[in-house]
Amino acid sequence: MKYYSLNNKSHIVDFKTAVINGIAFDKGLYFPEKIPLLDINFLNSISHLSDKEIAFEVIKPFLGNFFSTKILQEIIDKTLTFCFPIKLINNFIYSLELFHGPTLAFKDVGSKFMANCLSYFNLDIKKKYIVLVATSGDTGGAVANGFLNIQGVNVVILYPSKKITRIQEKQLTTLGNNINAIEVNGCFDDCQEMVKTAFLDSELKFLNLTSANSINIARWLPQMFYYFIAYKKLKHKLKNKNLIFSIPSGNFGNICAGILAQKMGLPIKMFIASTNINDIIPNYLKTNIYKIKPVKTTISNAMDVANPSNFVRIQEIYNNNFLNLKNYLISYSYNDIETKKAMLELYNNFNYIADPHGAIGYLGLKEYLNQLQSPNYLGVFLETAHPIKFVNIVEEVLQNKLDVPRSIFKILNKKKVSIKIDTYQELKEYLISI
Ligand SMILES: *Cc1c(COP(=O)(O)O)cnc(C)c1O
Repeated sequence: MKYYSLNNKSHIVDFKTAVINGIAFDKGLYFPEKIPLLDINFLNSISHLSDKEIAFEVIKPFLGNFFSTKILQEIIDKTLTFCFPIKLINNFIYSLELFHGPTLAFKDVGSKFMANCLSYFNLDIKKKYIVLVATSGDTGGAVANGFLNIQGVNVVILYPSKKITRIQEKQLTTLGNNINAIEVNGCFDDCQEMVKTAFLDSELKFLNLTSANSINIARWLPQMFYYFIAYKKLKHKLKNKNLIFSIPSGNFGNICAGILAQKMGLPIKMFIASTNINDIIPNYLKTNIYKIKPVKTTISNAMDVANPSNFVRIQEIYNNNFLNLKNYLISYSYNDIETKKAMLELYNNFNYIADPHGAIGYLGLKEYLNQLQSPNYLGVFLETAHPIKFVNIVEEVLQNKLDVPRSIFKILNKKKVSIKIDTYQELKEYLISI
């Protein structure tokens, strides 16, 4: 399988180059040259397959010949180290919980998969890579955990000092080994700017810098697994019913992976992109006008994205045809008050504790099902983070204390280690020194 740049289809690279570059040199996102169709026997027999066997079949056609069967199985073994329970909310609505991984958010799967791909690339070339990322909170922990102790890879994570939660900070500053936390005196945009400057700095070319942000194909593609795993778990309940998914969306990577799964043959009738008040996509689908507005801060902060990077991939899948897109994708937005009401409703009526992101997924699903008024649908919303990651807001809304998972307890007692910097020059000297 080859990948082209969405800015120029004649810029073609292989899987490994696309993973290492992250983004094409013309700033286009990479996209698979063709979307493989799954064998119908695979879908028919999916109930008998393990999550890992499903993952293997789904991802294999995207990798070309880079990995032998044995190595790909090892990568998947090291990635899917936790489960994805599906919980019944009411007769038509399920929650697919993606937060049982080491950092309690769905980004664990993509980060682990990418980290392990890099470590196996490294086996043949013995080059050292430096993974450089900026985080506003969740990505840093997932990347730190995913890349911990990966041979030949040093990880440098920039985060804005005092602007991430205590749990998030501990998740990226306490691991040690090949994980280095840089505490920037500034905001997330300052961190992002320093990372971009480093990638363009010709004096750092010798360093093999690579990024691990969410547009990397090795983080994007494995997110397809969730949809296949959900299908496996619900298949016996579906009979002739239509399956629909509501995805709390920020950068639209997760939903884009679902749409890719549908294109490969997974029978999903409709996708609902549920957003907070950063509502560029709901507005676009309503008006056919793509209008970027400044980002607004919300309680579902992992989705505070003004201009979702992955939306161009979704458009590509639907051949850049607006009407075609609207047949499969619907989008709603909700404010913080509605989000809190949904959290309370899930708790009081269904005894379910959702985090603010999952609650937005629930709202989108409920709204669409209410419009349809048809018993022929089963809906799944993705619960993307453990409620404990947003403990202050969840406890305030539910007026109740949350249990703290043991993994979090352990981390809170560990000592934070970070390097404080103010300027790009300091970052540059640091990168050269490690
Ligand atoms: C990253 C994130 C999202 C948004 O996912 P995208 O793929 O960027 O749309 C939603 N919820 C949580 C908890 C996240 O960390």
